[in-house]
Amino acid sequence: MNEYDSNRIYDSLKKIGFIKTDKQDDAYCYILNTCHIRDKAKEKVYHEVGRVKKLYREKKKPIMIVAGCVAQAENQEMLKREPYIDIVIGPQSYHKINQLLKSFTQKKKKEETEFNTIEKFEYFDNIKNTSNKISSFLTIQEGCDKFCHFCVVPFTRGPEYSRPFIKIIKEAEELIKNGVKEITLIGQNVNAYSYKDNSKVYKISDLINELEKISELERIRYTTSHPRDMTDDLIDCYSTSKKLMPFIHLPIQSGSNKILKLMNRKHTVEEYLSIYEKLKKINSSIEFSSDFIISYPGETEENFNETIKLIKKIKFLNSYSFIFSPRPGTKAAGLKLIDDEISKERLTKVQKILFSYQLEMNRSFQNKSIDILVENKMQGQNKLFGRNKYLNSVIFKGDEKNIGKIVKVKIEGCNQNSLFGEIEHKNMRAA
Ligand code: SAM
Ligand code: SF4
Repeated sequence: MNEYDSNRIYDSLKKIGFIKTDKQDDAYCYILNTCHIRDKAKEKVYHEVGRVKKLYREKKKPIMIVAGCVAQAENQEMLKREPYIDIVIGPQSYHKINQLLKSFTQKKKKEETEFNTIEKFEYFDNIKNTSNKISSFLTIQEGCDKFCHFCVVPFTRGPEYSRPFIKIIKEAEELIKNGVKEITLIGQNVNAYSYKDNSKVYKISDLINELEKISELERIRYTTSHPRDMTDDLIDCYSTSKKLMPFIHLPIQSGSNKILKLMNRKHTVEEYLSIYEKLKKINSSIEFSSDFIISYPGETEENFNETIKLIKKIKFLNSYSFIFSPRPGTKAAGLKLIDDEISKERLTKVQKILFSYQLEMNRSFQNKSIDILVENKMQGQNKLFGRNKYLNSVIFKGDEKNIGKIVKVKIEGCNQNSLFGEIEHKNMRAA
């Protein structure tokens, strides 16, 4: 979401004459867009500010803005701790950024961290989305009302808000006009999307069905979804849509019902498995990825082994796993932590299994021709970059006139992270 937000901030700043520069030490203004989901995020921000400070030691100081969830969580504290920072702006105040910059003077530091979500989206609804990346994000929903005990999102992004259906479709049409071929609908709880217009309640399934009709759009994805909001109308899209990719990021966090309850996750392992089975029944080639929190306070060896058992059952691909990181202000913040060595051992074990499935999957593509959406030319190399339907990175030889098209690529090799190959010449797909 920070990638989407950064692009939108830029769309706004262009209106008052700002342009991006590649010359780092030449910028008039720096914006650091930050994430607060795990520890170290805050320290990374101060470290980055320190780096910029050194760059400018003998030059005119740039305006230093910290945006994103660290800004939201730390607010005034950042201005006190690091006088080099000039403006602190939270995710629901980005509509104020032009005004802040226009009225800025070095003597007056500013902080904007109110939750003005509706105002923000209304402001951006009137600013064209200029993203022309072949695969682009589109925010449909922000915030969260679920309050998992470990998570800062409800505090940093605020309560759940769904954008008007019609505005999202308009923005999607703008992106497609710019040449975008794949749209990933995003939100902290993207499948909780719910927008009421008169008597009709629009769900994410309605958005997918509407996007499906736009002929120039090739692929639809969404992230991140919550198991509790995986309703039948969304599951049905996997039988009706030809553009919805068969790869679902569905975080479970733990394979133990005891831990899920302690986390306040509001779903059980059995409910998760039932979603998995429904989807597999519709299309057995659908694959899953997930998020895992390792060593949540109270996790015994037995509970941990339940997570391993679940991973082995589903064979998750491309998943994220991190040791529990206490976040200030959350219910789990003061809980007794599990020994560091044990946690590291558990994480290594989980990641070894997850990586082995990824490699197994990647190897299964060798010597096969698969559909790849060509995204761009690789920097400094005479190769193209694209992704298959499971989001695998694919690096291959081919003509750059294929950027934006779905082509057949013959896979000749792979490692854990990427597939390698060459575009087939008879090409120009049909799938
Ligand atoms: N809303 C999605 C859901 O609930 O399934 C997940 C979105 S959350 C912003 C992204 C991921 O960050 C979570 O799934 C979780 O695994 C991870 N995460 C959040 N807080 C964490 C913490 N305190 N320690 C470790 N990982 C955390
Ligand atoms: Fe965080 Fe997701 Fe839980 Fe919301 S549902 S509190 S975003 S982990």
